[in-house]
This record gives sequence, structure tokens and C-alpha cells, in this order.
Amino acid sequence: MNKKKYYDERTGKLITDELILEMIRLEEKIPNDLRFPFMTNKLSGSREPHKTQWMSSYFVFRIAKPTPTDEECKGYYQRINVDSADDINRFRGALIGCAIGDALGTTVEFKEPGSFPPLTDIVGGGPFNLKAGEWTDDTSMMYCLAHSLIRTKQCDLKDQMDLYCKWWQDGVFSATGKCFDIGNTVVSALKRYQQTGDPLSGDTTPMSAGNGSLMRIAPIPIRYFNSFENTIKYAALSSMTTHGAIEAVDACRYFSGLMWGALHGISKDELLDGLYTPIDEYWEQNPLCDSVLKLIKEEQYKNKKAKDIRASGYVMHTLEAVLWAFFHSDSFETGALLAVNLGEDADTTGAIYGQLAGAYYGERVIDFRWVRKIKESHCFYLKAEELKDIIISERAI
Ligand code: MG
Ligand code: MG
Repeated sequence: MNKKKYYDERTGKLITDELILEMIRLEEKIPNDLRFPFMTNKLSGSREPHKTQWMSSYFVFRIAKPTPTDEECKGYYQRINVDSADDINRFRGALIGCAIGDALGTTVEFKEPGSFPPLTDIVGGGPFNLKAGEWTDDTSMMYCLAHSLIRTKQCDLKDQMDLYCKWWQDGVFSATGKCFDIGNTVVSALKRYQQTGDPLSGDTTPMSAGNGSLMRIAPIPIRYFNSFENTIKYAALSSMTTHGAIEAVDACRYFSGLMWGALHGISKDELLDGLYTPIDEYWEQNPLCDSVLKLIKEEQYKNKKAKDIRASGYVMHTLEAVLWAFFHSDSFETGALLAVNLGEDADTTGAIYGQLAGAYYGERVIDFRWVRKIKESHCFYLKAEELKDIIISERAI
């Protein structure tokens, strides 16, 4: 009797017995705490009260009403007795915003600006042939960083590198179960870490100033919500694990400070008026490198058109592209489309924009038609809650 043949829908490859055994071996390597938790509901039969339980009713509300006003949405959170404070609204926005920008941009990743019809929705495809809502390395690394900050409660650089390695080699916290995309600077640093055990393995040569550490930064300003100074300090260290070039490190320092302000509800005018800081003279005493200073202080992005903006993988290009999209828009969605339609490293520009704009506008006003497409969307809500738990436990001491 002829055995029926099955093919992998993503790769088109024939599924053989060896392939199935290999998948089982990979599955068995991954401990439970490195899997995405399920979204439970009241009917799931779970005996343990679960942190994701409220989400099923919230998601139903948002599916019925994808664009509620901020007040309406806040009111719903209050009705179901779930944390409706502005801080967690911004934490949720920053994390889901990263995944949205990434999933949106991957469709036109590596494309020349102007060479494609402008995106208006999350549609998948792109160089990795993803399904709509699947996200890439940017969000996987951001999720690893959040997971590490939560499980260690601190900025433990070795633990962060261990998780990045688990993602790279075993596919943990990937939207597809595999690491299908990794930057050269990241992979060199992870190899160096595995050889030396030193977590500060990021290349320090100026040519290596890519956007790979900036793209995952959001969990740092959230975790250190209680301290601007700690936010900047740990943003630098978390960059240096994989990206040690001064421009990459200082882009992370500046941008995490900007995000810290957005998470605290500072207005866009104030955030983008020169160098944002809540502490007088902070940047005079802890200076940034010249190129970051010039970009921020001269504010040329405020007068530029899309054709004058590059969105390559060079961190200074990305930072300018993100600020440009944020400045020239007045909603999460319009800015996200400006960012990704620049093409080139569109997923990463989208992911970084999404972190800042998500923090600034908050989750309650992000169009749920995008949120619901995002793979494992509930996990970003969960991470926001877990990060807030740490902040609260610190305040209580
Ligand atoms: Mg990517
Ligand atoms: Mg990218």
C-alpha cells in the first residue's frame, strides 16, 4: 500500500520519519518555562488560577470593538477588574507594539524604498514567507530579554545571553518554533560568548554599529520604570552583550531614556524637544557620542521627507527613521505604516517604532484588528504584567 505523502506547508519539503523524529528531539529539549504559556479561559479546566484568564473576555470585547476610545477601553478593564492603570497600559503597548511593527514590516524587509506598493495591513510573506502576524528575530530577542529580566528580577547579562542562545540554537520564543533569521553581529557575539563565557561579547568596532540591540530594548525601560538612571545604565549593558560599538550603545542609552519618558506619559513635544531627560544636566554629565547628539539636537528629521530617510540596518539610520515616523504621525497605526514603508530593514524599523509608539499611545488605543493577528499576542500582555509585578515588589521594600 502506498503511504500518503505530506509536505511542510512552509518549506514545501517532504515530511519524512527522520524529520518527525528530529522535531520530537527538538521539542523534548525545550523545558516548559521556555514555551509560550497557553491562554486559558474559565472553561479550560485549569485548576490553577492563571494570569491569562482575563484575556479571553477582553479579547472578545476588543474583537467586537477593535478601536474603542481610550476611556471606553479603560472602563472595560475596570469592569472585569483587571489592572487599568496608565503604566501597564503603556507597558502592554510597548511590548505588543514591537511585535506589530515587526510583523507588519517583515513583508517588505530588504526591499528598496519605492519598489513596492505601500503596506496598509499585516499580511505576512516577505523574505521568510511568514504567515500574517508572525514576527521575526527582533521580537524574539525582545521577548528573551523580557523573560530574563522577569525570571532573574535583574539585568543578568549571562542569563540574557543564555536565552538568546536558546532562541538561536533551539528556536525558543520564535513565532515559528525555529530561529529563521539572525543578524551577523548577534551570531558572532553568541559564538564568542559560548567560547569565552563573557557576556559582554558585542563587537566594539565602529563598523558593527547595527540596530540589533536597539530592536529589543523595550523591556529595559519597563523593568527600570522606577529609575531613569538605572534604565540608561542597563540599556548600555544589555546592548554590549551583542553590540558594543559606541553608536549602538549610545543609541540604546538615548532611546531607552526616550521610552522611559513615554512610559511615564510625557508629551511628544517634550520627548522630541532636544535630549529628553527628567534629571537636570543628566546628559551633560553622562554624554552621548557625537553622532547621536547631532541627530537629536539638530532635529533634522523633523523637516525631512520620506525620500530623505534611510532605514538600513545601521543604527543611526534606524534611529532617525523611527523618530521621523513618530514625529510625522499622530496615531500608532499611521506612524507604523510610515516606518515600515521605508523598506530596507522594515521589520526592525517597525519593531523599534512600535515599542516607542506603543508606550506613548498605550495598548488601549491600538487597533485590535492588528493585535489579534499577532502570533502569541496574549504573551506580550502577560510579560507586561510580570514586569509590573517586579516593579511593585521593589517599591514595597
Ligand atoms: Mg527581524
Ligand atoms: Mg530586521
